[in-house]
Amino acid sequence: QIRVRFAPSPTGPFHIGGARSALFNWLLARKYPNGKLILRVEDTDQARSTKESEENIKESLKWLGLTWDEGVDAGGDYGPYRQMERLDIYKKYAQKLIDEGKAYYCYCTEEEIVKEREALMKENKMPIYQGHCRNLTQEQIAQYEAEGRKPTIRFRTPENQAVEFEDLVRGHMNFDSNGVGDFVIVKADGIPVYNFAVVIDDALMKISHVIRAEEHLSNTPRQVVLYEALDFAVPKFAHISLILGKDHSKMSKRHGATSVEQYKNLGYLPEALVNFLALLGWAPQDEQEIFTIDELIKAFSMDHVAKNPAVFDIDKLNWLNAQYMKKLSAEKITMMAIPHLVEKGYLKEAVSTDEMAKLVRFTEIIRDHLSYGAQYLEFADLYFKDDIVVEDDEAKQVLLDETANDVMALFQQKLAALEEFDAAHIQPIFKQVIKELKVGGKKVYMPLRVAITGQMHGPDLAGIIEVLGYDKMLSRMQNTMS
Ligand code: GLU
Repeated sequence: QIRVRFAPSPTGPFHIGGARSALFNWLLARKYPNGKLILRVEDTDQARSTKESEENIKESLKWLGLTWDEGVDAGGDYGPYRQMERLDIYKKYAQKLIDEGKAYYCYCTEEEIVKEREALMKENKMPIYQGHCRNLTQEQIAQYEAEGRKPTIRFRTPENQAVEFEDLVRGHMNFDSNGVGDFVIVKADGIPVYNFAVVIDDALMKISHVIRAEEHLSNTPRQVVLYEALDFAVPKFAHISLILGKDHSKMSKRHGATSVEQYKNLGYLPEALVNFLALLGWAPQDEQEIFTIDELIKAFSMDHVAKNPAVFDIDKLNWLNAQYMKKLSAEKITMMAIPHLVEKGYLKEAVSTDEMAKLVRFTEIIRDHLSYGAQYLEFADLYFKDDIVVEDDEAKQVLLDETANDVMALFQQKLAALEEFDAAHIQPIFKQVIKELKVGGKKVYMPLRVAITGQMHGPDLAGIIEVLGYDKMLSRMQNTMS
């Protein structure tokens, strides 16, 4: 049975890298009959863990459609699923290791450890614990206790051993146990460290595959020696590659939005983001790029997850999102835009039926220019703004064209005579003006566009004029031409 887990530390906004890990786990769980995804919250870093972050992660997962079968909120047979609620369990296993001589109390202070490490590094040696407390006598222990030192618990890593495991992405991995050294498993305050808690949880929760970010690859040897010491079956590992920005440096804020919530707020569609994230490190066997969720589940396989870093290409995400937006009705896109329009003060909360119909029409005119929802706002002025200002020098020049005034006058006159004021009826008028005034097309289209929208380029002008209506169009022209 496939049992995979997503085990976030709730220490900040839910990063797209985390979402990608969650997705790969989810795809594997959904691919196999009876596969299960477990959501476990790793909150042992108490200083940095927050409830808000946990909520943000869960909300983001739900928004993406990445449902979990067991874990926080969902429950299950292997709970609790929040590490701070499992301290008794970790304590029991730490005691077991001590009783078997596989772990020991270490009274070295943080200062002493740092000093030792620095000295080793100065001599170009590996900064691993030199075993000061490995074999303390009862007298030494009594002495340290009397001094009031609080011990950590350290794992006694077997010496001169090969630590080996199979990684589904990276192949056979082989580390020297002497490079691991004795490491702390429980801190002086009784809280386990990540490497210890994760092993106990993955084993007790019967996890079959540990799929996580590459940054944890270097932790895995420590985890493997713990599995062996505790007589737990070692799961399969898969360490998926880093996500890099387009400049090939590690993805960070300066590359743009990095959290799932930011993409949600920018009006990206969850289906598009999931499709995009799936292609970050996994490659289908053919050239297909757009996948329904069912197609993804079917096509996904860990065999085609790449070792080399994945590059986050925002242009590709925008393209994908635009493809998904094409499938939405203009009503739906409008509904999605309304909260943003309200927030920016373009609209009042209550939109009348009449206004709604006009907005939907406006959406139809601009929709091909939108890659994601928030771009709607870039076009909002076209429709909502009363006092258009021409800022661009080139555009100002267009309005000074010697024929511009004649173009405006004739265009207005013909529009005023229209029986039906819609784009289909407005469209032929441009040609008529060109013909009657015997001027080039540019001399007609450009001044009209600038006078009505303030801009040199944009969505279909006849459509814009239709939604503005004659009066609003006229007042804009009068303003910009004066
Ligand atoms: N809590 C760890 C993290 O968020 C999880 C690591 C793991 O999946 O083992 O990085």
